[in-house]
Amino acid sequence: MRYLIISDIHANWEGLQAVLRDARNSYDRILCAGDLVGYGADPNAVVDWARREISAVVRGNHDKACCGLLDDLEWFNPVARQAALWTRAQLTYANLEYLQNLPKGPIRVENFQLLHGSPLDEDEYLLASSDAIFLAPQLKYRLSFFGHTHVQGGFLIHRGGVEVLGGPVSGKNRTLCALEPETIYLSNPGSVGQPRDGDPRAAYLIYDTKENTVSYQRVGYDISSAQAKIISAGLPEILARRLAIGV
Ligand code: ZN
Repeated sequence: MRYLIISDIHANWEGLQAVLRDARNSYDRILCAGDLVGYGADPNAVVDWARREISAVVRGNHDKACCGLLDDLEWFNPVARQAALWTRAQLTYANLEYLQNLPKGPIRVENFQLLHGSPLDEDEYLLASSDAIFLAPQLKYRLSFFGHTHVQGGFLIHRGGVEVLGGPVSGKNRTLCALEPETIYLSNPGSVGQPRDGDPRAAYLIYDTKENTVSYQRVGYDISSAQAKIISAGLPEILARRLAIGV
C-alpha cells in the first residue's frame, strides 16, 4: 500500500491542488494528520474534498476551533482567532458537522498511527529531539505520523539516541528515507498550506509499506492566488505574507 500522507492544509486550495497533481499515480490512499482549515481562504473547498477523498483523518486544534468545539479561543493568538471565527462563519452546515465529528488522534492505520500533535496530547508540539526521547518508552507503534508544527521531517529513535529525519533541502524535491527495523520513527509530512520550516513550497510524504520507505516531497504552488484570496476575504494580511517565505 502506498499512502499519501498530508497535514496542516489550512484551507489552502492552491497548495492542496499542487500536492495532488505532483503525487498523482504514486499513492493508493490519502491520510491527513489534521488542521484541514484555519488561516486560508478556502475552507469549504478543502473540507468538501476531504469528505470525498481522505481515507483517515484526525482532528487538529484549528479544526476544533473553527467548528466551535473550543468555546474559549483565548489561547489562540489574535490572528488565529480572527481566522477561526471567519472560517466558522463560512463553513456549510455539513462541513461544520464533519469537522465536529473528526476523531481525536492517535488513530491506528494498519500497524502505524496517525496523530496531530503528540501521541500523548493532540495539542502538544513535537519540535525537539528531547520531546521525542521522552516519548519513546510510551509509544505503542514503531511508526507514527504527526503534524501541528508545520515542519517537515521528524525524528528517529534508536539505541544510539535521536536523529532528526530528513527535512526540506532547498532546491531538492525529494528526500528518501528507508525505514530500519529496531528503530522508532516519528515522521511529519510538513504542512501543505502554511509551511513554517523556511521552505514555502507545499509539503507532503509518501509512505510505501511494501518498499518500507518514507519519501518526503516538496512542490511549488500558486502562492500569489492563495495570497490574493486571503486578502480579498478580509483575513489578516500577515497570513498572506507568511506564505511567500514559509515561516
Ligand atoms: Zn496547523
